[in-house]
Amino acid sequence: MLDSQITYPKKIIILGGGTAGWMTAALLSKKWSSKGTCISLIESETIGTVGVGEGSTPKMRKFFDSLNISEKKWMPECNATYKCGIRFPNWSTRSGYESYYHPFFSQHDDSTVRAFFQNTTLRSRNFNVYAHPDAFFISNFLAKKKFAPLPHSSTSYSTDYAYHFDASLIGAYLNQFSQAEGVKRIIDTVTRVNQNCTGDIVSVQTIDHGILEGDFFIDCTGFAGVLINKTLNVPFIPYTDSLFNDSAVAIPTPLEAEEGLPSETISKAMKHGWAWKIPLTNRFGNGYVYSSQFTDKDDAELELRSHLGIDNDNVEARHLKMRVGRTELCWARNCLAVGLSQGFIEPLEATALMVVQETVELFMDTYTSVGNTEKARQSVNEKINLIFDGIRNYVQMHYKLNTRSDTPYWIENRQNKNLSEDMQSILNVWDKGGDLLGELREQSSRLVYSPTSWYCILAGMGRFPSRPKKPKPKMQHYSAEEASSYCKSMMSHFGDHKETLNKK
Ligand SMILES: Cc1cc2nc3c(=O)[nH]c(=O)nc-3n(C[C@H](O)[C@H](O)[C@H](O)COP(=O)(O)OP(=O)(O)OC[C@H]3O[C@@H](n4cnc5c(N)ncnc54)[C@H](O)[C@@H]3O)c2cc1C
Repeated sequence: MLDSQITYPKKIIILGGGTAGWMTAALLSKKWSSKGTCISLIESETIGTVGVGEGSTPKMRKFFDSLNISEKKWMPECNATYKCGIRFPNWSTRSGYESYYHPFFSQHDDSTVRAFFQNTTLRSRNFNVYAHPDAFFISNFLAKKKFAPLPHSSTSYSTDYAYHFDASLIGAYLNQFSQAEGVKRIIDTVTRVNQNCTGDIVSVQTIDHGILEGDFFIDCTGFAGVLINKTLNVPFIPYTDSLFNDSAVAIPTPLEAEEGLPSETISKAMKHGWAWKIPLTNRFGNGYVYSSQFTDKDDAELELRSHLGIDNDNVEARHLKMRVGRTELCWARNCLAVGLSQGFIEPLEATALMVVQETVELFMDTYTSVGNTEKARQSVNEKINLIFDGIRNYVQMHYKLNTRSDTPYWIENRQNKNLSEDMQSILNVWDKGGDLLGELREQSSRLVYSPTSWYCILAGMGRFPSRPKKPKPKMQHYSAEEASSYCKSMMSHFGDHKETLNKK
């Protein structure tokens, strides 16, 4: 469609000023302010933001690139650090597999990835080929050395990476950016939402600014879902039968200054969930994500404090409830739900802000090609729902593969029969030593995670087929030492994380 043929919304109201609201404001204003779209963002002073969400996926790099904001500008303002991947200690009790690392990939992993796939294909419980992913990925070695994933020479050794950042500082940064791009910030609380006779939203009633009208509305009100659920009555589909965690408690701790600055997230299994440890430039963000069916908030806080070695009460803990699942539709009528209002999968793979970005980008692309039509809404809803369900499947796999028996929480997670057909097929093929790559290719339109991620989680947890496989003639396995020494040889292209950040 020619630009002159596109009708952009005249007046967009974003309701909610958490990270989702300000990310949406930044993306929309950068592209649509110059097209005559007026964007207002209403945020309440009395209803707070969730205030957590400190890890990202590599997609976040594209977010800042598309806003033309360099790392040099935003990272220091948000106490941000680099993230090479996520380490998962204590999820498996199998000997040699007590911890594994989910890497972000580098083009230089190509040859070692092939060796890893080959070894996992040969590996069975009775044929002990080395098939733990940690030996095969450069980013694991970077994280172990507390290196930054930025090569000295940016051209020849590029590697994928993500970020850690302070959730409230990133909101504040994007708030300033968006206002400079023309977004009007209104501090007020919405008390009523008005619809016309067809059901479309026409305005919101606020306490101090009266009635504010718009022709398109974005619901960024967090778990409250003020527009999408409470006004438009779009049903919420809970994932509680597949993901048990519904609560979290967060406590920051000081950096261990003498030990260097880590460049990975640690997601360590606990008694009734898992604890995150996220390094920022000024502190660690820590939290325990757990299921309230299996423990209560006081015990969870005690367990987290003991895990962190903080037994005094001077450091305050923040308790949060999580609504885990997704709305049936994120785009209904003249309203798009973005962020926690559209859904949330617990933060194990730090995917929430990636979905925010994906949703807004997809919405803008679709709107500018077909407008606010049934076809547009259907296409966006189908794609976003697939992303949610795909992430849920991968996250659930962590719980399904656990081998802990210390609490009913872990046993019930492992025994949980509420698995999607896709996940069931992946497990069946893997357990029988079948063609996993073929199965993943068949599912590719529904998968969010790459085959490498699936191989990493299955092999990393130490789950292998029980029956020995006969190696095909000429099918050789690769030595872990060879793969490791290749990865180690790449370290000379990278440097210390803290020093790299200080140079920025
Ligand atoms: C424990 C936990 C850990 C997480 N970790 C990660 C992570 O590592 N990585 C990641 O990507 N994500 C993570 N997330 C998710 C991430 O925090 C959220 O996706 C992100 O903060 C966006 O939240 P939000 O803006 O949708 O909602 P909120 O932060 O809840 O903001 C809601 C906004 O709506 C406003 N509002 C609500 N009602 C009204 C009203 N009636 N009138 C006016 N304003 C109103 C509020 O004032 C507020 O500004 C985590 C979430 C939790 C719970």
